Amino acid sequence: MTEHSESDQPNCIENIWRCRASCCRHLFFQIEPDDFSEWYWAFDVPEITRDDADYLILHGAKVLLDLVLVRKNDVKKVDGGYEVDSICKALMDDFTCNLHPDRKPVVCKELTAENVGLYHLTDGCVLGESGNSSPRF
Ligand code: SF4
Ligand code: SF4
Repeated sequence: MTEHSESDQPNCIENIWRCRASCCRHLFFQIEPDDFSEWYWAFDVPEITRDDADYLILHGAKVLLDLVLVRKNDVKKVDGGYEVDSICKALMDDFTCNLHPDRKPVVCKELTAENVGLYHLTDGCVLGESGNSSPRF
């Protein structure tokens, strides 16, 4: 979720009851998962940063060095990768972020209308042509 903007650019606060902060309710991986156990897929994310790990853990993933474990039942194959249904623990009932503005992960702070193309796009986001804006791993 991006910060509120005073400009005419589309922004999150004006759209949040339509998108329901869908960017905060998914993870997205461009890489193929490996079977880790009966219950978990493992995504091997190279050179994962502490900030990325914090973001992934907020979304309920387990991070073991470069391995990111997510529950198999939450994963679905979509165009370009794998989307994981996983609501961020910082997302509040009114779809705003409990860690906004200073304590949220850098990957969340950096999302803007200008760089949204670097993020994964799904339904509901006004920043991209289609969809929300979860960081890609
Ligand atoms: S930390 Fe905040 S902005 Fe980032 S995914 Fe969670 S609720 Fe959304
Ligand atoms: S889905 Fe798009 S418009 Fe909605 S909160 Fe996330 S970045 Fe903002």
